Amino acid sequence: MQRNLFEEDHELFREVAAEFNARSVAADYADWDAAHLMPRELWTAAGEQGLLGLAVPEEFGGAGMPDYRFRAVLDEEFARANHLAVGLAFHLHDDLVLPHLLAYGSEELKQYWLPAMVSGEKVTSVAWTEPGAGSDLRGIRTKAVRDGDDWLITGQKTFIGNGISGDAALVLARTDGGTGRGSRGSFSLFMVEKGEGYTTGRQLDKMGLKASDTAELFFDGVRVPARNLVGEAGRGLEYAAGQLPQGRLAIAVASSAVARTVYEATVAYTKDRNAFGERVIDFQNSRFALADILTEVEVTESYVDRAVLAFNEGRLGAADAARAKLWASERVKSITDRCLQLHGGYGYILEYPVAQAFLAARLLTIFGGTSEIMRDVIGREIAG
Ligand SMILES: Cc1cc2nc3c(=O)[nH]c(=O)nc-3n(C[C@H](O)[C@H](O)[C@H](O)COP(=O)(O)OP(=O)(O)OC[C@H]3O[C@@H](n4cnc5c(N)ncnc54)[C@H](O)[C@@H]3O)c2cc1C
Repeated sequence: MQRNLFEEDHELFREVAAEFNARSVAADYADWDAAHLMPRELWTAAGEQGLLGLAVPEEFGGAGMPDYRFRAVLDEEFARANHLAVGLAFHLHDDLVLPHLLAYGSEELKQYWLPAMVSGEKVTSVAWTEPGAGSDLRGIRTKAVRDGDDWLITGQKTFIGNGISGDAALVLARTDGGTGRGSRGSFSLFMVEKGEGYTTGRQLDKMGLKASDTAELFFDGVRVPARNLVGEAGRGLEYAAGQLPQGRLAIAVASSAVARTVYEATVAYTKDRNAFGERVIDFQNSRFALADILTEVEVTESYVDRAVLAFNEGRLGAADAARAKLWASERVKSITDRCLQLHGGYGYILEYPVAQAFLAARLLTIFGGTSEIMRDVIGREIAG
């Protein structure tokens, strides 16, 4: 079925994104994967091409394109080129950190961060998860204590994407002085720059998406000026909840794009591969499997496209975004598995995109909120 999500401007932007993938990523991606790190020049190259901070207003150096379809195009191109780790790294910077600064940051904070994030001179990460608390953010223990005009932050974070390569993290910290599980008003968000007391722990060895670094972070009395508080103290969880729909929509978009890409690669592979004197696609089992997969790809695309339009119109609620993420991420997990099977042994070999997509897709039902948490959000809405 023909999609009608995109217009001419989006397709022009797609050409820029495709060229960026071909020119600035393709040749070195395997090396970055092996090194578990991307070079900083990649970020500045993306900034020069206008691929970062699309929603940032022109007065802060951005393109002033809040239309989420442009971000969707970018994700589709990273999927198509099998550069999923770059997509993940940019997602943290653009879909999670930026929206908080745009929505709640002071003028001073915006002036300082937005132009540098758009140009790629500053790379950011989101530091919410801790060793003892992921789904249940009220259980985090990192604390921020007021000290004159500053805050002192102490604690530990884990699973932080761009944690090694990044310059700063949007940190969720407890600010009410309490211990035990906090209340909704117990937490605040801070932009914390690397410096004294801020150390990066070990690089975590992920099963996929290796080119994007993921690390533990340690804060030992890190002094953070009061201007780096995002919005008001005590409203960190409320702000995070307000921006979650964009983060979850982004994962739905990426899931849908990966599903389509892997489906197309599998059709091509099964047409090319022969067994028992026939093309693999000529076995009824293969055709039936691909028929199911294509149907799921198209249903997912339609649903996610609708979510993108709802987001653009300010109508994507928390449960809507949870449904889009739940559906699309669970679909791509299953689709990459079935497509891998249709590749036979080659599907298990990492130089085949389906193997990398299978490993990447496994993350999508976990991060940004697990599928169980998505069901909880949706179920609560149903229960009223
Ligand atoms: C590669 C990777 C990158 C990541 N990047 C970042 C990042 O950049 N920044 C960041 O802050 N975090 C990041 N995360 C963390 C991620 O968001 C968490 O792992 C995720 O939210 C789950 O938290 P957890 O790992 O603590 O699991 P837990 O919360 O310990 O969950 C364990 C299991 O219990 C289930 N569960 C928990 N609560 C409930 C409930 N109420 N009902 C039913 N089941 C429940 C979960 O669904 C899961 O199956 C990343 C994680 C990974 C693996």
